[in-house]
Amino acid sequence: MYWKKEFKKGKNYLSDRNLKEALKCFESAVTQCPVSSKSGLEKSLFYLGVTLKKLGRSDSAFRCWHIARELKDNGHSTEMIQRHSNKYGQPVHTFNIEDDKAAFMSIQLEKYIKMKKVSRFCSEVEKDVIKDIISQHWVNLLQSGIFDHMSVDRKLKFFRNQNIIFPVADISYLEKDNEVIYTDFHSGHQLSMNDLCLCGSGILFSQCCGRIKTSEELEVGDF
Ligand SMILES: [Zn+2]
Repeated sequence: MYWKKEFKKGKNYLSDRNLKEALKCFESAVTQCPVSSKSGLEKSLFYLGVTLKKLGRSDSAFRCWHIARELKDNGHSTEMIQRHSNKYGQPVHTFNIEDDKAAFMSIQLEKYIKMKKVSRFCSEVEKDVIKDIISQHWVNLLQSGIFDHMSVDRKLKFFRNQNIIFPVADISYLEKDNEVIYTDFHSGHQLSMNDLCLCGSGILFSQCCGRIKTSEELEVGDF
């Protein structure tokens, strides 16, 4: 089995701290591992995530761990997600304000991408322009100090309700009727980021079904 060889080699490189080579091996293990081997894929994705994290690529690491978690609940990937998530379910930053900014960027990027017919960026220039517009909006919000004392749930609602005018003619996205609201049917309350997820994963809603995808995930999509 070719993927197993690559996986083993990867683990050796990882323990020798040769991250570049480890990365190559785990990437090829993930690609070569047959889809039928759930545990093989899960293991390979977990270690690929660990290597990416060590390389400072937290967003990519999260992508790996979330896919691995879907293959196997309560595995090592779940543990990593719990350990490294911020209150939005994204990779934690050094400062709180960076966590807020990353969540805001993701929410607005997702809005933009969703309203496009092709659901993705068509060029690097487009991506840069849109990110600049969102960043500028963020700076204005930050200076206003308006969300300084809001809870995570209120901040999220506030971030989602910010309608930035992007340079496109189609504004149909402004209709909010397709927004998903997660509700606990037992209590009838809207689910908070600090609640346990309703899907039964045993982890926080903010780290599971309610998490804010990273900008990288939105740009690249899943594997
Ligand atoms: Zn969930």
